[in-house]
Amino acid sequence: MPQRPLATALAGRLRRRLLEWYARHGRSLPWRATRDPYAIWISEVMLQQTRVETARERWPRFLTRFPDLRALADATEQAVLKEWEGLGYYARARNLRRAARALVAAGRERLPQTAADLARLPGFGAYTAAAVASIAFGERVPALDGNLVRVLARLLGERGDPRRAAVRARLSAAAGQLLSTRRPGDSNQALMDLGATLCLPRRPRCEPCPLRAACRARALGLAARLPRRPARRHLAHHHVAAGLVWRGGRLLIARRPGDALLGGLWEFPGGKRRVGETLAQACRREVREETGLDVTVRAPFLRLAHAYSHFRITLHLFHCEAGPGRPRPLGCEAPRFVALDELGRYPFPRANQKALEALRRSGVWRPPVRAGGRRA
Ligand code: SF4
Repeated sequence: MPQRPLATALAGRLRRRLLEWYARHGRSLPWRATRDPYAIWISEVMLQQTRVETARERWPRFLTRFPDLRALADATEQAVLKEWEGLGYYARARNLRRAARALVAAGRERLPQTAADLARLPGFGAYTAAAVASIAFGERVPALDGNLVRVLARLLGERGDPRRAAVRARLSAAAGQLLSTRRPGDSNQALMDLGATLCLPRRPRCEPCPLRAACRARALGLAARLPRRPARRHLAHHHVAAGLVWRGGRLLIARRPGDALLGGLWEFPGGKRRVGETLAQACRREVREETGLDVTVRAPFLRLAHAYSHFRITLHLFHCEAGPGRPRPLGCEAPRFVALDELGRYPFPRANQKALEALRRSGVWRPPVRAGGRRA
């Protein structure tokens, strides 16, 4: 495995060109105006799986709510999840809080300064640790995200699969060669920006690229075909039935178990339809299995499609009337009937938020009226 995939003199030239390009064309992003390692950490975590434009809006809001490590450590998980609502990949929010709590419990008010120490904290993968260490503390360590992998694979003309360790090591070594000694964080951010604005996945814009003279993929006419993309996975699809279970003007909600997908978030009880079931039957069975309540399914309310990273669902929501008894935490946590104007206090995953929005828009922001004029 080559220790230096780029010739030393060439690497030096590219390093300088990259920083010159970054000074002129780097993106103006609010988290680049701070030196606060905590704020930089929050931005790096938020930017994983979240669009830059969304992060622009949500990053300052998060910092207003949780301005430092201690504030984050002192917050309840529910408060952090509520603030993260709509950003998806909620393990990120839970891990932010867990890392803050671990540091505060160890008597620290600040983040550790090296990638190696950061990587010991919950939620710090290799990328996050390197990004924070280089940007906030000036450690010379490459932060290999998807953008960097693409740029470097093209620069080296790398035809191997970037998921393979040997390929990854070559890319990482090249990224290390492109890091400035004094401003490694800027070098990493320059490569990120290059990948986000010029070295685009399908249509790289090579003409204005500061690396073009050395780019092997460009010379070989392979720029748009590298790096090798894994074959598209077929995403499994499930029909999910869930109940808007009404009782006395209140709606039944339940918290997802902490170790489950979307753990700690609240939802309308429901689950996957089984083979041979109608959706209404699935709704009735799921509510009973999760909460012990028998319900009468009154009417379909909404059908919506939603995609997660590994599967897609069609969510079918039904207005239901609760039978007698108290809901119990059988396949969920803390089930409860909640007044409509209190629902906003609870963090819901995106699909349930869409359902709530539809409920508000529909004018059924109150229990549906049953025949005879009584509310269900
Ligand atoms: S020359 Fe083109 S393919 Fe090569 S790094 Fe620049 S934008 Fe990417």
